[in-house]
Amino acid sequence: MKKITILGAGLVGSLMAVLLRKRGYEVTIYERRSDMRAGGAYAGRSINLAMSVRGWNALEFAGLKSELETIAIPMYGREIHNVGQENIFQPYGKNNEAIYSVSRSELNITLMNAAEALGAKIIFESKCIKTDLNTNEIVIEHNGESTTYNCEIILGTDGAFSAIRAAYMQMDRSDYQQFYIAHGYKELSIPAGPSQSHLIKKEALHIWPRKNYMLIALPNIDGSFTCTLFFPFEGNPSFESLSNDETIEAFFTENFPDAIELMPNFLDEYKSNPTASLVTVKTFPWVFQDKSALLGDAAHAIVPFYGQGMNSGFEDCATMATLIDMHKDDWKTIFKEYQKLRKINGDAVAQLALNNFIEMRDKVADPLFLERKKIEKEVGLRFPKQFLSVYEMVSFSNLPYHEALSAQHAQDNLYQKIVGHHNNFFENLNDENYQKLLTQWVDEYVSELKN
Ligand code: FAD
Repeated sequence: MKKITILGAGLVGSLMAVLLRKRGYEVTIYERRSDMRAGGAYAGRSINLAMSVRGWNALEFAGLKSELETIAIPMYGREIHNVGQENIFQPYGKNNEAIYSVSRSELNITLMNAAEALGAKIIFESKCIKTDLNTNEIVIEHNGESTTYNCEIILGTDGAFSAIRAAYMQMDRSDYQQFYIAHGYKELSIPAGPSQSHLIKKEALHIWPRKNYMLIALPNIDGSFTCTLFFPFEGNPSFESLSNDETIEAFFTENFPDAIELMPNFLDEYKSNPTASLVTVKTFPWVFQDKSALLGDAAHAIVPFYGQGMNSGFEDCATMATLIDMHKDDWKTIFKEYQKLRKINGDAVAQLALNNFIEMRDKVADPLFLERKKIEKEVGLRFPKQFLSVYEMVSFSNLPYHEALSAQHAQDNLYQKIVGHHNNFFENLNDENYQKLLTQWVDEYVSELKN
């Protein structure tokens, strides 16, 4: 059985190590950072991510779901904070489905612990600085020394700025595209209340949508919330324009008054926490012969607005493990099939994530959008086999992302038929003729999906 070298012990690399050890492969991971369990990298800051069905399914496949469920907080919908108005709660699904807030560091630690317990070796402070795809040699820098290792199989899970991907980009006929959006992000926090209580609704993803920018908050187990401000780098307002204490305070007071009441340290955090950029990476190929492959952000870094980066990376791992089960040690076939199944979905989720930014920062506050959500919910309840909203497809199903992306257009068409009809949708529902018409529109939607 082949020995497998993984580059990067982040979320995807660590999960892949677990899945490979369970299949008997010898696994060594080289990780650039120091061991976060020793209190380094993530200590002190609580950063979380939203886990949805795809992530859970991959964790279940690895036998880790129940352990991780104990640190996950369900978020059943979006709590929208508009200035000077009551909050509005928008459920995510029609059957009380939730996405889950999970601490990034706890998740990573659990995955690394599980990988090591199964026998994987993780070597920290070991940065891959060079890869030769043909010879499958990697150069690892550790304690100021560079060592060359010859590998049988390499899996590149070294994130959005992957070192092994740099070697892929040197190949003939390799495609590469990387682009940044005009917005960056900054993490802030709402501390816990007395006895680790949550000061705003615990089981919701909070959004302060402000058209061209937004603040969001996800709950943590310790009662705090991690907030993220998604904000333009330049223009007015922007990270650039908020240049001193007065402008920062005035901006937050005007735009997020209810949030800053709960954020006693927002000014210090705003000034001391880094401003980070948001990149989308599309690359091809994802695999090289029977020698190496890219997974997770190394293959498809996306913007975080659908909360699918890790989820899609975990789906990569589950797909790869399933293919190993099917094709045993035929790595050429495993890699070829993996790329065929996953590349199309990596591209689709990148687009879905970009589209969802506009929905989150702007549309969620729009009454027409809320009306559409209500209509979608009713259509979904009446036609559960035929209609799932795009959000449900992405977050609560395993349907391929590319199908969810194609459904977006077909659902726009269905919605146009519904609102284009001159009478009120909900009043019409009792009318037999209208019910027939609605059934016909839904049938047309289904056939559009199939084409
Ligand atoms: P990473 O997590 O980046 O891990 C890569 C690892 O490789 C790191 O440990 C790194 O140190 C190591 N490494 C890098 N270079 C080298 C090298 N040369 N040699 C050795 N090791 C190396 N996704 C969701 O599903 N839900 C969310 O809610 C969500 N929210 C997000 C919010 C923000 C603000 C951002 C930026 C992203 C979010 N994501 C979310 C995306 C998610 O964080 C990523 O998709 C996920 O971390 C990818 O995992 P990965 O293991 O592929 O890469």
